[in-house]
Amino acid sequence: MKFKRKNLLLLTIDAFRLDHLSYTGYKKKTTPYLDKLCRKGFFFNQMIVNGPCTPPSFSSMFTSTYPFHQGGYSPLPHNKTTLAEVLKSHGYKTVAIHSTPLLSRFYGYDRGFDIFYDGMMSKDDSSIKKTLLNRFIDKGSLLNDAMNFLQSLNIPKRLQYYVQVAFYTKFIQRKEYYENAKTLLQKAFRWMKKYKSKQNKKPYFLWVHLMEPHDPYFPYNRFLKKVKARGLTIDEIEYIREHPEYMEILREYKMVNKLIDLYDAEIRYLDARLRRFFRKLNRKNRKWLKNTLTVITADHGEEFLDHGMFGHQAQLYDEILRVPLIFISNRLKKIKSKRFGKDKKKNSIRNIVNMRDFSPTILELLGLPQEENFDGSSFANFIFSPRKKEDDLIENGVFSETYHKNKVTRFSSSQRDSTIGRIISYRTPKYKYIIDEESMKEELYDLENDPSEKSNIVKKHPDLASKFKSKIIKHLKQSKKKNLKEIVEKKKISQAIGKIKINI
Ligand SMILES: [Zn+2]
Repeated sequence: MKFKRKNLLLLTIDAFRLDHLSYTGYKKKTTPYLDKLCRKGFFFNQMIVNGPCTPPSFSSMFTSTYPFHQGGYSPLPHNKTTLAEVLKSHGYKTVAIHSTPLLSRFYGYDRGFDIFYDGMMSKDDSSIKKTLLNRFIDKGSLLNDAMNFLQSLNIPKRLQYYVQVAFYTKFIQRKEYYENAKTLLQKAFRWMKKYKSKQNKKPYFLWVHLMEPHDPYFPYNRFLKKVKARGLTIDEIEYIREHPEYMEILREYKMVNKLIDLYDAEIRYLDARLRRFFRKLNRKNRKWLKNTLTVITADHGEEFLDHGMFGHQAQLYDEILRVPLIFISNRLKKIKSKRFGKDKKKNSIRNIVNMRDFSPTILELLGLPQEENFDGSSFANFIFSPRKKEDDLIENGVFSETYHKNKVTRFSSSQRDSTIGRIISYRTPKYKYIIDEESMKEELYDLENDPSEKSNIVKKHPDLASKFKSKIIKHLKQSKKKNLKEIVEKKKISQAIGKIKINI
């Protein structure tokens, strides 16, 4: 089924775990507006991201490849075409608005965008800062080494936090850690208004990445009230607004409920900002989204000691891998009512899908031809045709992967540190298998009977475990990055025979 060529509005949300969207039955009313959008469009409830943090998830999303394949982790792989490049080649005006350093021009995320705002440089910046930043452009690997180094520092979390804040406030010169949803959505609205007034015939691709509810969580008091946060005192709330580093103390003392309240209040704030944004766009005299495909999703989730950690470190459990995905357009609305009749609630697509297939799906929904350079394939058929049969419970799975050292995220493999290991998971609708290259620990979970992945059944089902393990080995063989042991051996040989450069 083909669509007329239309605009694409892509809203991505950082660190938004699926089960905190109230549409999925979450006990707190975190997302009254997003719930409405879920009912209006098509909602996928098994979108699995290909990595547990921003770099692997976005690289798979925008270049349609698995993170370890084609060196596609961070920066964006040079040999892969990006979604923005494809849309630009089809005559789209391409615009990005965000304030996330990991998605900045230094990691190649500006590729294919006519206008790229990442909050990193402005006209007023000093020439020293501009020179310094420019030296890093296209040197994402240098930045990765710096990030790996920061992650490896054995200093208290609170101190690490101060280093980060100093970077953001002193170097990037932001008042706050990141630009909030209000600021970014206002920028997006202003751009749309200007573009519309030009009577331009070109369709557009506008990508906005929002940082709420990513940490540090410092929501306004009124949103804490809206999610009925009970654990925090007024004094604490006021203190957190002024001193977001207090969050690290809550983590140290394992104050899980207080942290969840803060996280949920950030989601509630985000929801309110989205409501405002969409209302402005949909006003009667505007109807700016009439010929637009709107897509809302997230890059990964967030953990609150579900598996012993906070945040989104190198773990591949569902609280981190499973995120919301919503497609909305007038055309989809018609298809939905044809498919599901009046029952508005029946629009969840339960098939398992993953970020590697995201860009091909977008192309199909926009009525554009597929891109040969993309590895994935479109899952739009799950929207157009009723679910014919259950997903194959074993064969139909997706991979997620990350670099780590002692379960702490690393931003790339590194020539300097050959002990950086990989964790890879294979997830099917029924099972999750995880293998850690560092400890060689294997885990297997029965997601139907144990959705929170608490009971490791790898010993009970060695047959299944070995089947999944061989799938992962086969998958890694396709990866451009070599096996770590191989890399170490090659390094030793090259050191022995002199200065021979090896590319890993
Ligand atoms: Zn992220």
